Amino acid sequence: MAQAPKPRLLTGDRPTGPLHLGHLVGSLDNRVALQDDHECFIIVADLHTLTTRPRKHEFGEVPSFVREVVLDQLAVGLDPAKVTFYLQSGVPAVYDLAILLQMLVPKTRLEQVKSLRSMARAAAMPDDAMTMGLLAYPVLQAADILMARATVVPVGLDNEEHIMIARECASVFNELYGDLFPLPEAKISQFPALPGVGTGPVGSGAKMSKSLGNAVNLGDPPTRVRDKIATFTYDDGDRRLGDQAPLLAFARAFLGDEPTAALRVELDGGAITLAAAHARVTEAVEARLAPIRERRAALAGEAGLVEEILVDGTIRAREVANVTLQRTREAMGLESLWGGLVAATEARAKARRKPY
Ligand code: ATP
Ligand code: MG
Repeated sequence: MAQAPKPRLLTGDRPTGPLHLGHLVGSLDNRVALQDDHECFIIVADLHTLTTRPRKHEFGEVPSFVREVVLDQLAVGLDPAKVTFYLQSGVPAVYDLAILLQMLVPKTRLEQVKSLRSMARAAAMPDDAMTMGLLAYPVLQAADILMARATVVPVGLDNEEHIMIARECASVFNELYGDLFPLPEAKISQFPALPGVGTGPVGSGAKMSKSLGNAVNLGDPPTRVRDKIATFTYDDGDRRLGDQAPLLAFARAFLGDEPTAALRVELDGGAITLAAAHARVTEAVEARLAPIRERRAALAGEAGLVEEILVDGTIRAREVANVTLQRTREAMGLESLWGGLVAATEARAKARRKPY
């Protein structure tokens, strides 16, 4: 009996910097767990990078970040034999699909998306100067997801609303033109918004982000990891933060619930110093990072490996995207419009007995 096809999964990252612990617990762990039972597409979203970093010198950094983002994912255990890694800008059919989907999304819907405003703020872009590209960020993301006809999308909390928009695009399209797209669903991890450390200008309350300078990167050496974790505080002047402390939210992801609750009791009762708490959390983080670091170094030594994986994957993604675009154009009537013009032109050439 033929095997049922595996459900398709699509997720990925912007090449705006190396991947960090937020990615690990917010998305990468899920990607690794799901890679056996799903047909996986992992996008390196360089077009999405242009939405907040369009300048030439900013794009100049992208090639090395593309490499790092793929290396990080191989190092955490994603297997290129099971996963299609691809470069977003290398799949032109997605640009076409994004334009077609734009017709289906009201501008006011996009103006309500909070994550876009915070991305604009992080990029020092005033609200009234938000570009069409940034406003339509979720529509391009919908094109990525729908081109692969993916149903499972593992993401962090900031992306949940984007996946809802992709779902809305699919359902409006199906209503207007007939069933074509399966409805995608966000798969939110247990740790969907890991807080950042205190090294960036925003302090440790904000979500760990590549672009906020508050990240512990997967490739950071042990001393840097230790120093970054040591920036977590446990009070805001005269008051202990208790469960509000980013330190505890961070600790929960690496120590687990019960040891973190015990850590809080010890901190509150003065049974442990803040430095000792940092050391305990650092040890748990190191237990995860040490093997990743080792694999990363070995993979980084293989010249051309990452590039080959990306080129192979992008060729495969192109094939998939071309099929979806063709079916989309057929459903909308664009193919028959073009086909009708060509057929009439051929008929006229035949009538004049001239080859066309
Ligand atoms: P940038 O600052 O450039 O926006 P980022 O660190 O927010 O970078 P993205 O590439 O935007 O990373 O996100 C990739 C994926 O990782 C998304 O699904 C996002 O929701 C998830 N993610 C990012 N940061 C975190 C975090 N701190 N905790 C959990 N998940 C996260
Ligand atoms: Mg982000």
